[in-house]
Amino acid sequence: MSKQCARCPQKAALRRPKTSEQLCKSCFFRCLEDEVHQTISSSNLFKPGERVAVAASGGKDSTVLAHLMTLLNERHNYGLDLFLLSIDEGIAGYRDDSLETVKRNEQTYGIPLKVLSYRELYGWSMDEIVAQIGTKNNCTFCGVFRRQALDRGGVLERANKIATGHNADDIAETILLNMIRGDVPRLSRCINIVTGGEGPLPRVKPFKYTYEKEIVMYAYFKKLDYFSTECVYAPFAARGFARDFVKDLEAARPSAIMDLIHSAESWTISQGAQDQMPSPQSCQRCGFLSSQALCKACILLEGLNSGLPTLGVGRKNQGNKDRGKRGGGAAAAAAAGGQQLGGLIQLKLEEEEAAPPAAAAAAAAADVGDSAVCATKP
Ligand SMILES: [Zn+2]
Ligand SMILES: [Zn+2]
Repeated sequence: MSKQCARCPQKAALRRPKTSEQLCKSCFFRCLEDEVHQTISSSNLFKPGERVAVAASGGKDSTVLAHLMTLLNERHNYGLDLFLLSIDEGIAGYRDDSLETVKRNEQTYGIPLKVLSYRELYGWSMDEIVAQIGTKNNCTFCGVFRRQALDRGGVLERANKIATGHNADDIAETILLNMIRGDVPRLSRCINIVTGGEGPLPRVKPFKYTYEKEIVMYAYFKKLDYFSTECVYAPFAARGFARDFVKDLEAARPSAIMDLIHSAESWTISQGAQDQMPSPQSCQRCGFLSSQALCKACILLEGLNSGLPTLGVGRKNQGNKDRGKRGGGAAAAAAAGGQQLGGLIQLKLEEEEAAPPAAAAAAAAADVGDSAVCATKP
């Protein structure tokens, strides 16, 4: 004998994770859709006529995002020109299948799909990168490359904005990680619903207040077609402990996720910490947004490209050393050998990020930037 829906005479089919409300399926759908619309409209995420890239990985978040963006665009006349933007990292057995899912989404939602590969953009697939550097820092490479890959794809496709599927759990995790690392500048930025507003292509998070459990429920009850296998390299990511901690907090008190976000939103960052924030500029090599003269992608790429011949034959190479002096820490590291490559690139990233050493080591191992949720999300 199930209870009655809290909002209509129907029988309740589920208990909302976020509010513990007993709801029927259709009331749950409407609640979630209305909340996302509320987030979009109250934060003025979009303007009529904008061309919006929906970052599509084939996973649950981006699939529900594609579904809701299409639905809300029609229901509330946003007047947006939507398309799906997918990045193929080149991880055998991972993106192959999820890209098939995105291709089916293209058919289902009737919005066009653009796929760009790391190999097309950078000359390296993730499998090739792992073959060079091992699985210790691969998520750093993947995160840095993915972040810029979406920008490049968005610019190529003349998008005005990129919408990503980051949900409330992701943001709560990022808040905790930045607190644990003592990374105050990032702590202040990670709660923004719009990032990269200074650059040509801002990113928006329509799911900022949407619980992961509710996204999963929505996908499940709507029978949406998504791909659920984790990245094959993800077990090596160091983000897991914060994720587990957020889930434990939520189990003890469902409002904990929203409370964390609301707390972080009301913090005032001291002037000293604000002064540490690097002002955005254009990368001298690729022209995309960077906090330094060279962007992280270009630095990592230089290390990979300089390191390849030396690593291949397993001996030191004077040419690479010289190139290293010109190119900075990453290329010098490359000449020193395979395992050290990752370690010294971490050091380079630490300098770049101007974070406390212990914090930055964890940051470099786990991800770089607030969008780098390891390989499961664009
Ligand atoms: Zn109902
Ligand atoms: Zn660059």
